[in-house]
Amino acid sequence: MFDLIIIGAGPAGITAAIYAARKRIETLIITKDIGGQAALSGDVENYTGYQFISGPELAFKFEEHLRKFDLTLKENEAAQEVKRAANLIRVRTDKGSYEARAVIIASGKRSRELGVPGEKEFKNKGLTYCATCDAPLFSGKDVAVIGGGNSALDAAIQLIKIADKIYIINIAENLSADMIMQQAARGSPKVTVINNSRVTAILGDKPEGNGAASNSRSHKMVNAIKIKKAGKEELLPVQGVFVEIGLNPNSEFAPEVEKNELGELKVDPYNQTNIPGIFAAGDVTDVPEKQIVIAAGEGSKAALSVFKYLITNPRGL
Ligand SMILES: Cc1cc2nc3c(=O)[nH]c(=O)nc-3n(C[C@H](O)[C@H](O)[C@H](O)COP(=O)(O)OP(=O)(O)OC[C@H]3O[C@@H](n4cnc5c(N)ncnc54)[C@H](O)[C@@H]3O)c2cc1C
Repeated sequence: MFDLIIIGAGPAGITAAIYAARKRIETLIITKDIGGQAALSGDVENYTGYQFISGPELAFKFEEHLRKFDLTLKENEAAQEVKRAANLIRVRTDKGSYEARAVIIASGKRSRELGVPGEKEFKNKGLTYCATCDAPLFSGKDVAVIGGGNSALDAAIQLIKIADKIYIINIAENLSADMIMQQAARGSPKVTVINNSRVTAILGDKPEGNGAASNSRSHKMVNAIKIKKAGKEELLPVQGVFVEIGLNPNSEFAPEVEKNELGELKVDPYNQTNIPGIFAAGDVTDVPEKQIVIAAGEGSKAALSVFKYLITNPRGL
């Protein structure tokens, strides 16, 4: 049995782990990946100490820091259920079952889906949820970014250097992204913002032409999206679709923990949930504003709260 299990190794989970290790708390980290959304960010210009650093670079620095400590790390493993049992917390994963006196849930968020015809069929066949991972595949192509917030604008800005034309399809009357990002996107002649528009379908076909051998020639790829504007539907020819319409919390595996209407785990100022011994930190919680520096700070606070909890509850719950 461990003293602490941390679920997730994004900025919140990694920082919690570093603080826990420095307090000599025997810790197991269970995570699907290392870096979380931070590794997917394009340019990060608001993490203290770095005027500019790319998301993957910052995530690498987090990982380097994490690996300096003597912690048990289970990568490529997903928590499926976290439950309180007698005087401990049990975590069931897709690979096993573990027990600890306390748990910090730091499982962050995942991309929200559009829920329109063609979305599932064309996923990874021209449609993607990760600009940082996939933008380089769209060199010289026309693409649509769906959304109007910071993530959408971050994707559009990354694509300026790569794609030919970038349409930002925004459901609202105005973009909601930070003004500095809007200015960066609108400053490029490649970018067209289409407000008050809803995507209703993703369309595709087998690409025309022969030439270079490519896997993509054997199956259908995105070649257009259908959008509805002022009651009228129209086709917009694009070869790429970047879905950036927000995020859902990864909180389903903690059924006993109280959540808000968005599914975020409710925590008090000490990162304690309604279940004694279960703490939470970062984007998965109802703490306002979702940022790397906030997630990291919350992770550190959660680990310090666990330290106090373990001292005051020497035999667990
Ligand atoms: C495109 C993009 C750009 C961004 N740009 C910025 C920026 O410039 N500046 C900024 O401050 N913030 C930015 N953000 C937001 C920032 O990345 C997040 O606020 C931050 O990463 C949240 O950290 P977290 O640790 O709470 O969660 P996450 O980063 O989401 O990490 C969650 C971790 O939990 C793991 N996990 C999830 N489910 C499970 C499970 N069931 N079992 C085990 N492990 C699980 C994941 O694999 C991951 O390791 C951006 C986000 C995106 C998507």
